[in-house]
Amino acid sequence: MRLSQYFMSTSKQTPREGQSVSHKLMLRAGLVRQLAAGIYSYLPLGYRVLARISTIIEEEMDGIGAQQVLLPSVQPASLWKRSGRWESYGEELLRFRDRKKGEFVIGPTHEEVVTQLVGAEINSYKRLPVTLYQIQTKFRDELRSRGGVIRTREFLMKDAYSFCRSEEEENGNYQQMRGAYGKIFSRCGLDCKVVEADTGPIGGKRSEEFIAISPSGEDKLIECSTCGYAANLERAVFKIEKEGNNSVKEMRQVPTPGTRSVEEVSRFLGSHPRDVLKSLFYQTEKGLIMALIRGNRPINESKLKSVLKVGTLQLASHDLVKEKVGVEVGFAGPVGLDGYQVIADGGVMRGRNFVAGANKKDTHLVNVNPDRDFQATKVGDIGYPIMGDGCANCGHVLSFRRGIEVGHLFYLGESYSRSLDVTFLDEVGKERYFVTGCYGIGVSRLPAAVIEQNHDEAGIIWPKEIAPFHAVIIPTTERTFAPSRELYYHLKEAGAQVLWDDRNVSAGVKFNDADLIGIPFKIIVGDTFLEEGKIEIKLRREGTIKKMTKNKVSQGLKELLEDAR
Ligand code: ATP
Ligand code: MG
Repeated sequence: MRLSQYFMSTSKQTPREGQSVSHKLMLRAGLVRQLAAGIYSYLPLGYRVLARISTIIEEEMDGIGAQQVLLPSVQPASLWKRSGRWESYGEELLRFRDRKKGEFVIGPTHEEVVTQLVGAEINSYKRLPVTLYQIQTKFRDELRSRGGVIRTREFLMKDAYSFCRSEEEENGNYQQMRGAYGKIFSRCGLDCKVVEADTGPIGGKRSEEFIAISPSGEDKLIECSTCGYAANLERAVFKIEKEGNNSVKEMRQVPTPGTRSVEEVSRFLGSHPRDVLKSLFYQTEKGLIMALIRGNRPINESKLKSVLKVGTLQLASHDLVKEKVGVEVGFAGPVGLDGYQVIADGGVMRGRNFVAGANKKDTHLVNVNPDRDFQATKVGDIGYPIMGDGCANCGHVLSFRRGIEVGHLFYLGESYSRSLDVTFLDEVGKERYFVTGCYGIGVSRLPAAVIEQNHDEAGIIWPKEIAPFHAVIIPTTERTFAPSRELYYHLKEAGAQVLWDDRNVSAGVKFNDADLIGIPFKIIVGDTFLEEGKIEIKLRREGTIKKMTKNKVSQGLKELLEDAR
């Protein structure tokens, strides 16, 4: 491609709207442009990266026998009503009516559509297992789009769905898919961690996420450097530090005027936040409950939900607590609290001599002891991990990391085939529900994740397999323009993915642009060519230079590509 004719606009200026390194670089390199909040156009350079990523995905999916389809974005509401997600999916689901007043959605995901399709096509075990996948545009009306293409409302996803006869068969499938994901992300040049994850609105029994490690990522995870355990913060299990063997002291009331939060109370009484009990009222479909946790540990509401076995959970307002319980928020506590379930975090039960609200304004109790002074209705793990917690497997101190979720594996079991009532006939002619799994990759977020891990001050450094072009030929003077053109046509003929920077701009601008857009090799036709008859190939990642005669460039480039990351 001749750069003079290429639809590319680069910029030296750092754009103001850029939130992360990748967002800034994608705008500066002209890979994407925003059309509306969370809605982006991919320009030719950006699109070539997406296309290469898609090719890698297709190769690896085809490699495990998955078959590509293309399912519609526009889906009838009736299907979503049947699966129950018309109600449960919430505001991210974009709903609209057509001219005949029929209700539709723009697909945020395709479990319903594909389950209906497979159910209609397959009725015998003989045609199972089958895995279908697509690379297709999704729409989710995200409240806040973020980081350029990392979280958008319209985005490209690879979604795969498998249909099996049994749990065992689906488990085998899951492992194959997991292996393929590993290959895909490593071919894209990404350093990923596989973590246990929450299932979210997709539902299902088991799920794991592939997280591209990056300090700017919004996903938080913990990792054990000793045994390799890693989990999304939502799902993380951990060991808490051992308690000292303090003797139980006598409980008494103390005045604590105007001190409500854990910080205020611990400062006022000179105690450590971990020795203050945080008592929070939540509203659930089972009524108002109190959750109890040590003051230095945040409550994980999704764990609390599963300990309580409730579907909805919301922090109760001050007014509601005052009206129903007759206590001011900030002074509530478990001692003498009658008529309400108290769900205590495991860490609470092991502690001694806590500070807790006295259920009386401006008053706390000190030396509160579980079992002696209050009973918990239920004890469970309802907290997030904090610094200093140990690995649940091996006890080693956990480290906290951040990353970008690039892929998600779900074991769904029979959930969708049951809700949509689709079955097949097994070996003995018995009707059975399909056992399913679903598997997503955030295709349009991948370029950003790759850039977060592959860049320097000068710009992007594309890993070779997803670089939009492998090389850019740069004539640095008038006098090398003609030989550079000859080289361009020669390389193009030989099938190389090359750009020719034939623009009438300075050599400096050409070098800067090549670095910014991240092309792995610069083929420089300059003074060295005039003086020594040698072409220089400069490696973007390493910064090193190889010299060779013009007729060796084609072969030289091939060899360099083989060796490159
Ligand atoms: P999150 O919890 O971050 O919203 P999710 O669990 O909703 O993610 P999935 O439904 O598993 O995401 O979607 C599959 C993949 O699609 C994700 O692993 C992610 O890479 C990508 N993805 C999800 N939402 C978006 C989005 N709004 N913009 C871009 N990519 C997305
Ligand atoms: Mg989401």
